[in-house]
Formats: sequence, structure tokens, C-alpha cells
Amino acid sequence: MKQGRLFVISGPSGVGKSTILKELLARQEDIYFSVSATTRPPRPGEVDHVHYHFNSLDEFRRLIKSEALLEWAEYVGNYYGTPAKYVDEALEQGKNVILDIEVQGAKQVAAKRPSAVRIFIAPPSWPELERRLTERGTDAAEKIQKRLGKAREEFENAKEYDYIVVNDTVEHAVLELEAIMVAEHCRPQERIAMIERAGAADAPKGPESAAEKDADEARETT
Ligand code: ADP
Ligand code: 5GP
Repeated sequence: MKQGRLFVISGPSGVGKSTILKELLARQEDIYFSVSATTRPPRPGEVDHVHYHFNSLDEFRRLIKSEALLEWAEYVGNYYGTPAKYVDEALEQGKNVILDIEVQGAKQVAAKRPSAVRIFIAPPSWPELERRLTERGTDAAEKIQKRLGKAREEFENAKEYDYIVVNDTVEHAVLELEAIMVAEHCRPQERIAMIERAGAADAPKGPESAAEKDADEARETT
């Protein structure tokens, strides 16, 4: 069985993370996308437990207290966090797991799970990011300016990531994400373990099987 890998995706609000992840998930079945808990109110079209688990502040505090979250952070006035249970279950099933989380959360995951692969999604330019935020039409002008300010701050962290994908076109960005995921499964640690496991299944068995062989020969001569 393939080893499950944890992929952490970060990038400024409005850069197109949801758009490219939706396309990636439509193309690949064995990916588990982690649904986060948040105190942010749903946007039009967002469904509870599909896009987010929409929680009250009290519910979110309880999740923190019970250590149910792999990581959590505050982002422009709301709390966001990753429920650990489902991530671990999917990894154990050999699935690739994707977290779409901001940079503070990504740092917490890197500290707890050093083998996680971190990918930063960047806009082709800052004016294009502003255009996408405005055209999405989900945030007031003041909130858009807050998110743009935050985007500059977040970009400062991009160099700490393993990869940067530029979302110029959705097709191109998804191709790059797929390439990274394939390449990460070619790392020596995973490949050697895979070959050893396959070898173990085919290899001649040990002393036990020699004893079985002797017993077979003894039966044949009687
Ligand atoms: P995020 O999840 O990063 O906040 P969204 O996926 O909601 O961003 O995308 C923000 C807006 O940008 C949406 O209106 C989306 O349709 C648009 N968008 C996403 N990717 C592209 C792209 N490559 N080119 C043009 N527009 C895009
Ligand atoms: P939005 O409100 O636009 O859906 O998300 C705002 C930011 O919160 C995005 O940068 C997104 O990646 C981040 N985010 C979503 N879920 C989580 C989470 O579980 N943890 C953290 N740390 N950030 C999250």
C-alpha cells in the first residue's frame, strides 16, 4: 500500500486555493481534503461540514481545550483549526491528505509533523490578487484591504515552504501540484520501503519453510 503523505497548502486569501484544490480533487480520488473548523460565518453557497465545520466561539474553545485540533490560528478576526482525528485516519489508510491553512498553522504542523510537504500558492502579481478578491465579491472593501495587507505578510514566509506554485491559470497550477505530489512519492525513504516490502513478499521463507520442505520430502519417501 502507498504511504499516505501530508500536504500543507497556504497562500493569500483570494489567490485561488479553493478553486485549484476543487479541480485537483475532481481529478484524483485518493486525496482526503481536511475540512477545518472555523468561527467565520458561512459565505453564500458554503455548506456546513462540507466547506467548513462552522462553530461558535465556545465550540471552538472546547475543541482547543480537548486537544482535538492538530493546529489552530486566528486569521483576520476569526479562528480556524484542523481536526486531527480525520487527518490521522486518512493517512493510516494510505491517502494523500491536503490541509488548506494559513502560515501560522502551517508552522505548527511542520513542528509536529516534520515530514509534511509545504506548498505556497502565490498570485502572478499583487494587482491580480486584488482583482480576484474584488471579483469574488464575498468581502467588503475594508476586509479586502485587510486581506491584501495580510497577503504581503504571508508572502514573507513563502521562502520557508518546500515549493511555490504560481496560480496564473488553474490548469497550470493544478499540473504543478500534481507533479509535486508524484515527485514526493519518489523520495528514497518511501521508495526503498516499498521495494523492501515487495521483496519480503516474494523472498524465500526462512527456517520454518525449510522444515516444511523436509516434512514434505519425508512424506514423499514413505
Ligand atoms: P482562495 O480559496 O485562495 O481564497 P478562491 O479559490 O476563492 O481563493 O479564488 C478567488 C477568486 O479568484 C475566485 O473568484 C476565483 O474564481 C478566481 N480565480 C481563482 N484562480 C484563478 C485563476 N487562475 N485565474 C483567474 N481567476 C482565478
Ligand atoms: P477563508 O476565510 O478565506 O476561507 O480562509 C482564510 C484563511 O484561513 C485562508 O488562508 C485559509 O488557508 C486559512 N484556513 C482555513 N482553514 C484553516 C485551518 O484549519 N487552520 C488554519 N491555521 N488556517 C486555516
